[in-house]
Amino acid sequence: MDFEFTEEQEKLRKEIHEFFVNELPLDYRAGFIEVVTRGAPFTEEQLSFGMALQKKAGKKGYLAPGWGKESGGLGLTDMEQGIIIEETGYWGVVWPVSLGLGVCGPALHLFGTEEQKRKFLPPIARGEVIWYQAQTEPDAGSDEANVQLRAVPDGDDYILNGQKTFISATGPADYLYTLVRTADVKPKHRGLSLFLVPAKVPGISYRPIPCMSGFTVDIFFDDVRVPKDSLLGQLNRGFYHAMATFEFERSGTDDAARSKRYLEELVQFCKETKRNGKPLIEDPKVRETLAQIAVETEVERLCGWHGQWYFAEREKLGPQPYNLLELIFKTYGPIQSKKMMDMFGLYGQLKKLSPRVKFEGQVERRWEAMRSAHGGGTIEINKVVIADRGLGLPRISTRLREVIGQAVKEEAAR
Ligand SMILES: Cc1cc2nc3c(=O)[nH]c(=O)nc-3n(C[C@H](O)[C@H](O)[C@H](O)COP(=O)(O)OP(=O)(O)OC[C@H]3O[C@@H](n4cnc5c(N)ncnc54)[C@H](O)[C@@H]3O)c2cc1C
Repeated sequence: MDFEFTEEQEKLRKEIHEFFVNELPLDYRAGFIEVVTRGAPFTEEQLSFGMALQKKAGKKGYLAPGWGKESGGLGLTDMEQGIIIEETGYWGVVWPVSLGLGVCGPALHLFGTEEQKRKFLPPIARGEVIWYQAQTEPDAGSDEANVQLRAVPDGDDYILNGQKTFISATGPADYLYTLVRTADVKPKHRGLSLFLVPAKVPGISYRPIPCMSGFTVDIFFDDVRVPKDSLLGQLNRGFYHAMATFEFERSGTDDAARSKRYLEELVQFCKETKRNGKPLIEDPKVRETLAQIAVETEVERLCGWHGQWYFAEREKLGPQPYNLLELIFKTYGPIQSKKMMDMFGLYGQLKKLSPRVKFEGQVERRWEAMRSAHGGGTIEINKVVIADRGLGLPRISTRLREVIGQAVKEEAAR
């Protein structure tokens, strides 16, 4: 097994590294943390900076390097794409177009008509548009098959009515990639279709839901008229199409790189900060905590690259069955942030606005954000997927599943 990158790949990494060194202001990280961990929307200033930087990266082909040149990419391999994504994560950059790049664009590649690809892919790769992935509804989260947003044919159009909820919003959307009920059949997942909906048409409205770990919105569809060619892929096959695109979410090298950067800053802080007359870094407990986090960060990195490699080899290996990184990240995250909180003592709880705050209040913000594990699927669902698709364990009976589902609903209603 060879863990090294080629000389060409290292050259590419250096090129991206220099791009960020040249383009990012020194305090950029602070802006990123506000948005991702505080549930605040981007401020106008942050958004216009993010969009401008994104367009610069798009011009160089850094946003979608693995896409073909006709779609605005560089035609590089998936491994090289992994390097660029890793470097982007290290700098704490979250592109406003990230869902277009990571989910909607790949779905368009797989299921779009030639016309849809020509229309939608290049603006994503150029970083000009913002997409939302709008799947979750009040009664359809883990149970995605229960989607109730409904599309009814009307002449050359469809009319959409219903609601989506907890949809990540990285800025005002231009388009929605959304799962819609187009038939009432059993099993219910066979009556769903994917739609590409312009986000600002009459009848669509948005309501903010600031979360612990990101800014999300409710989306209401009130007699929204869309042309029939808004359908992506086959009618009533949307559930299968959506499942296929989860594979794209299962490969990613940025989470571990973000953790690495955070750890590096934390180590630096511990070197510079004294407690009881001694630098924190000399405290054996602090050293043990940092070492543990370093080991876990390396595990995350390897899981991320394993996913990326599997994705790159998908023609030989078949679809990637599960996402170990997601589970590891969501499991380690809260434990690590609790340890950091302990390491900082009472100062760990101070918010950024306190004059006595240390480490820019990052420990408190991370502690809160890491408790939210719903975005992208919960820990339990990740375990179910690994047990089922990864380990081939037997599924629980339908009856038992219903009993658990009922218990979960009752608990939520209490
Ligand atoms: C910050 C944030 C960002 C998000 N961004 C998006 C987005 O961009 N697009 C989008 O479509 N959605 C988004 N979501 C929604 C997210 O995908 C859902 O919250 C998630 O899929 C879980 O659905 P739910 O909240 O309805 O919980 P439920 O499905 O109701 O689950 C409730 C609890 O029961 C457990 N559970 C459910 N079923 C099982 C089972 N079979 N076995 C064991 N345990 C089970 C779950 O793990 C969970 O703990 C976001 C959510 C958050 C918090």
